[in-house]
Amino acid sequence: MPNAPKIELVQGDITQQDTEALVNAANSHLAGGGGVDGAIHRAGGPAIMGELKEKYEGCPTGSAVITGGGNLKAKYVIHAVGPRYMGSPRDAALLKSAHLKSLELCTAHNVKSVSFCAISTGIYGYPLEEASPIAIETAADYLKAHPEIQLIRFVLFDSKTYQAYKTALKELSASGSLENR
Ligand code: ADP
Repeated sequence: MPNAPKIELVQGDITQQDTEALVNAANSHLAGGGGVDGAIHRAGGPAIMGELKEKYEGCPTGSAVITGGGNLKAKYVIHAVGPRYMGSPRDAALLKSAHLKSLELCTAHNVKSVSFCAISTGIYGYPLEEASPIAIETAADYLKAHPEIQLIRFVLFDSKTYQAYKTALKELSASGSLENR
């Protein structure tokens, strides 16, 4: 039997997920905002913003910080700052790094299951067909080196986003890169 699949795609609302951590798409001021960030703060309650203000003075693009999950089912929220899409080669490195730092925080906090939203693909304008393979490949590479992580779930809000991630996962799988995990 091959290993159980560790990358999962669902269409839905990240605030409802029961994984140990959720990865939010934050801004570098960690100031809250619209989109998924607003939804997570609304559902999680004011404790999350309180902890952000107490512990961090912002977060650079391409990095991430962690707080408790407040009223969410998840124990932790990881606030990742993806890039605004500029159409420059730096975009991809920053998007990859935002995912990688989030996964490193999972390892550091002994988190074995995590849900990601589609970082940067909303207000920040990253095209889905470019962002989705970066997200999926970074997750797959991390899993290869970190068998302690049992599940990486991508929670895609609408069907267009879900389809783009599904295509990226299928292409990675066809290339053989999902094997030997
Ligand atoms: P960014 O500024 O990084 O682009 P956004 O919040 O604008 O962040 O969008 C990131 C992604 O999160 C988009 O695909 C958006 O549709 C999606 N999104 C918005 N609300 C939710 C939610 N409650 N759960 C999951 N994804 C969401």
